[in-house]
Amino acid sequence: MTNTSLGKILDSACRSIQNQIGSGKVANYIPALARVDIKKFGAAILTLNGESAFFGDAYESFSIQSISKVFSLTLVLNQIGDKLWKRVHHEPSGNAFNSIVQLEMERGIPRNPFINAGALVLSDILLKDRTPEASIQTILNFLHEISGEGRIGINHEVAISELENAHRNASLVHFMKSCNNIENTVSDVLEVYCNHCSISMSCEELSRSMLFLAKEGFDPISNKRIISPELARRINSIMMLCGHYDASGDFAYRVGLPGKSGVGGGIVAIVPDVGVITVWSPGLNNNGNSLVGTSALEAIARISNWNIL
Ligand code: GLN
Repeated sequence: MTNTSLGKILDSACRSIQNQIGSGKVANYIPALARVDIKKFGAAILTLNGESAFFGDAYESFSIQSISKVFSLTLVLNQIGDKLWKRVHHEPSGNAFNSIVQLEMERGIPRNPFINAGALVLSDILLKDRTPEASIQTILNFLHEISGEGRIGINHEVAISELENAHRNASLVHFMKSCNNIENTVSDVLEVYCNHCSISMSCEELSRSMLFLAKEGFDPISNKRIISPELARRINSIMMLCGHYDASGDFAYRVGLPGKSGVGGGIVAIVPDVGVITVWSPGLNNNGNSLVGTSALEAIARISNWNIL
């Protein structure tokens, strides 16, 4: 495929959903996110062959929120490998990303690393032998390496807003600590988690950073192995089954690719052996996933005929 045909695919897909732009509701439980313009829309496709296509606000940074959990999962799998699965399962939850009920019934072991409880355990593991500042810096250093962009950082206004309103996440950590599934202090775990959720990146940077997942763990930008092929496959499987919380089935049905969403309105989808697509539209559906972003990815997958089958 050439840059022109890739551009045509992205253009016609994005134009087909353009009348939906502005739909959905911005996340309002984090005040700093509620102020984002709901009419923003961006999309970026990067392929393993070095081709690229961009649409709309593809270069504008936004709050990546739960998309950051893919990066913390990669770091944790490299740190402790399969031992992770003693503390977090890898099953779809069928519940909201911040649900509390299931955690009590399952004795403090979160269903998967992408619901908030699971990602909070990832933060706890990243804190092993590190201060909160060093843990956050480890995530940022990793992002700088895989994106080739040293300026990626945290939006401190979002981080403060999240920390001030982290009552539900705090209750998840407290409960897991009572089940002996958290080793560090509740406040240190929240500090790492809220800060990595508050990282700002553009569609272009996100697509570039996740190319290693389209290439079995090998990053074509830095020419480095980021993670083993086995573990890269596991991350993609978890994205496929758990990347959109209780709407993961609907996303898989409509888009057919492993993906991860965030309440900032971003979604990244991996096309194995081909490349990465990122879309951004801040209006969310009732499950907390970008409403227009999902439609855009559905159109891109349909027009390009990319799927995992
Ligand atoms: N930081 C957000 C939270 O903890 C992340 C949720 C998301 O993006 N789904 O609620």
